[in-house]
Amino acid sequence: MARKTSRSGLPGSVAILWLRHDLRLSDHRALAAALDEFGLIVPVFVLDESDENRWALGGASRWWLHHSLAALGAALRKRQSELVLRRGDSVSILRDLVRETGAAALFCGETHEPWLRSLTDAVEKAVGVPVHRRRVSTLFDAEAIRTKSGGQYSVYGPFARACRAQPEPEDPLPAPQSIPSPKRMPRSDALDDWGLLPKKPDWSGGFDTMWTPGEAGADKKLKSFLKDRLDGYGASRNVPGDPQGTSMLSPHLHWGEISPNQVWHAAKQAADRKKAKSGWDSFSGELLWHDFSAYLLRYNPEMPEKPLRAAYAKLPWRRDKAGMRAWQQGRTGIPIVDAGMRQLWRHGWMHNRVRMITASFLVKHMLVSWQDGEAWFFDTLVDADLATNAASWQWIGGCGTDSQPFFRVFNPVTQGKTHDPDGRYVRHYVPELKALPDRWLHCPWQAPQSVLGKAGLVLGRDYPKPILDLDRGRDRALDAYRKHVRGAKKGADA
Ligand SMILES: Cc1cc2nc3c(=O)[nH]c(=O)nc-3n(C[C@H](O)[C@H](O)[C@H](O)COP(=O)(O)OP(=O)(O)OC[C@H]3O[C@@H](n4cnc5c(N)ncnc54)[C@H](O)[C@@H]3O)c2cc1C
Repeated sequence: MARKTSRSGLPGSVAILWLRHDLRLSDHRALAAALDEFGLIVPVFVLDESDENRWALGGASRWWLHHSLAALGAALRKRQSELVLRRGDSVSILRDLVRETGAAALFCGETHEPWLRSLTDAVEKAVGVPVHRRRVSTLFDAEAIRTKSGGQYSVYGPFARACRAQPEPEDPLPAPQSIPSPKRMPRSDALDDWGLLPKKPDWSGGFDTMWTPGEAGADKKLKSFLKDRLDGYGASRNVPGDPQGTSMLSPHLHWGEISPNQVWHAAKQAADRKKAKSGWDSFSGELLWHDFSAYLLRYNPEMPEKPLRAAYAKLPWRRDKAGMRAWQQGRTGIPIVDAGMRQLWRHGWMHNRVRMITASFLVKHMLVSWQDGEAWFFDTLVDADLATNAASWQWIGGCGTDSQPFFRVFNPVTQGKTHDPDGRYVRHYVPELKALPDRWLHCPWQAPQSVLGKAGLVLGRDYPKPILDLDRGRDRALDAYRKHVRGAKKGADA
């Protein structure tokens, strides 16, 4: 049933809805709260590129944002409203908009990014009207998830159990049918003037083929995943060559075009219908990882910059300009790594299993700092999420509160053979290797000359020779770990 929206709001009274990572109209608790109390709503998005935010939007995120705002603007117009776009300092823009519209309150979603949290505090001080925050991007209220002694969880397992012991996430709210606006809406910038889309050369061709930013695109992705894929998700989520093995909802979730509540309830209902318990257990577990990353960032605002385990700050990271370029361009000579990095460049997204392999290769085999990898992912992912990206890089780097031990090094050849046994993924993104038999596809440098010849492949000409020896890279990483982390810890313990 459609929500009765403007009826209960005080006629003539204005509220501002400040949108950030919640670019949707359905299941939007800040919007619903504003409509409950106020008759007229002014939805605003501010592009704030202040220096305070070291993690300014990357190129891929800017592409997504452009299309997402366009979709949201169209959805608002269908509801007799309009999206007001402004660029600049959020504090002064929102203060001016409150004055101009006579708004009596400002509503926004709660965020976990440290800079956005302090910005919201600064806005609250400046605007002179109450600021109401509502949870819009996590399943559970971080404040409610506490250990028995009232502290915070630092390990995923107990965190997830504590979440599952909570009452179910709230039922999603439908989108309002109309969102009344004041007679004169404030002036808006033109989205095209913001220049969010890439200039020449335009690298976004492969994005268009894969993504439809906006609420409708998110809903379509969710439905198609739940229709066909939830049952086998536990296994298919580890097969990068299966284009529908995972939901591909991450950018939609990051930009808040769909809420985790909506995904949770829709998946639960589908799982109940299909009796897909194991699919549900794995998939809901991933949604809880999403909550856990936000939770970690909220309580560890330094997480994107500093290792959560201090001893890891001592690792002697290498500056390897040429190696870094090869990694970024997918030209390391290690096929599964190159396939992943090319997928990232082409589509702004990479499969989770391959994110782990490429990240481990950089941090361990290449001994390049996880922060360098984190920054590249942040610039190139359409789902670049400060919390999840930082938590995942720290997980790979062994330095998070709950992470894979540093001494466990993914072997990219074994990983490739296990998770891409028929080579579908590598052949798609590294077509130079197409004609190699499966046996050698993940380790072309080991293939006999006759096999390479038959495949028409000369290493170093058609495809790079590996930039490093995997065994030596692994040994160097373990040696650094023994000397600088384990040694440092022992020193600290003594
Ligand atoms: C080095 C590295 C960096 C990463 N950076 C990001 C990032 O910037 N943004 C981002 O959204 N994800 C990131 N991830 C997590 C994960 O790879 C993606 O969320 C996932 O691949 C998205 O695909 P999907 O939507 O098809 O996921 P599905 O498998 O369908 O999972 C559903 C949802 O659960 C959440 N999820 C899944 N896996 C994880 C995970 N490991 N940690 C936290 N949440 C998860 C996502 O919101 C995802 O959309 C990173 C992982 C690694 C190893």
